[in-house]
Amino acid sequence: MLPPVLYGTKLIYPEPGQVKQKGSEKNMEYKTADYHVHSTISPDAKGTMEEMCNAAIAAGIEEIAFTDHYEFYAGGITGKYFNREYLIRYFEELDKCRQMYEGRLIIRSAMEFGQLHLDPEKASGIIKSWPFDYLIGSVHKIDNIDLSQMEFREDTVQEIADAYYSHLLKLARTGDFDCMGHLDLYKRHCRKAGLPDDYDKYEDRIVQVLTALIERGKGIEVNTSGLRQGAGETMPGIRCLKLYKALGGTVITVGSDAHLPEDVGSGFIEALGLVKKAGFDRIARYEKRMCLFQPL
Ligand SMILES: [Zn+2]
Ligand SMILES: [Zn+2]
Repeated sequence: MLPPVLYGTKLIYPEPGQVKQKGSEKNMEYKTADYHVHSTISPDAKGTMEEMCNAAIAAGIEEIAFTDHYEFYAGGITGKYFNREYLIRYFEELDKCRQMYEGRLIIRSAMEFGQLHLDPEKASGIIKSWPFDYLIGSVHKIDNIDLSQMEFREDTVQEIADAYYSHLLKLARTGDFDCMGHLDLYKRHCRKAGLPDDYDKYEDRIVQVLTALIERGKGIEVNTSGLRQGAGETMPGIRCLKLYKALGGTVITVGSDAHLPEDVGSGFIEALGLVKKAGFDRIARYEKRMCLFQPL
């Protein structure tokens, strides 16, 4: 039987020959796909789509997904950036780059949705209206405050961690996305503040999150920004990857979370090594939100 193909949230087991599967050819060599790249469409990134595409080609990458930010807020707040005009600008730039780099770089349309579980109706309206290949579901904020703006101290860390994992679980159980972004982002801030991330203490909650993702046919990404931004390892790290595998998880993408051209594809050799070490022999790519597995 062919491996399952994910379509939306459903697992489909295709009959041989029924579904074109990228990489089903024997001995096809894995070429790198960076599935988490921001451009200046995002309010916090420093490279235009064109600059990021040039950096990807220079780094030998054959496929990238532009996962610019789209944040959702609690209490009906909309935020000043994230509106229809934002999405129009995104797709205009993307279409320009697709024409410019045709035959040289595969460019996937994507978004990194922050806290989309807070406003599922708005999220669903956006998802229905725009032609996305791939969606990341992330948690960046608790009560509309970004984790990076919070004070991680011994007396606050427990409360922040509890809230973070509660949001993550709600997102995993209800959100419309393909892969969960930087699952243990929380640890980056702990380590920056010189606090232990207490993985063991939260492993039960991570199991709940992973189980929900697996039940709903969703994947996780290995985010390499942890290697260069203080977490000391990929997000998630090897323990969580092995746990995902042991629980029956199969869907993994790798992303640099580059906000600068020089970071496109960074840390991929290490990340792909971890993915293999955790027991995975294929990597996921997406087209029109259908998962296409490719052997590693
Ligand atoms: Zn993120
Ligand atoms: Zn990101």
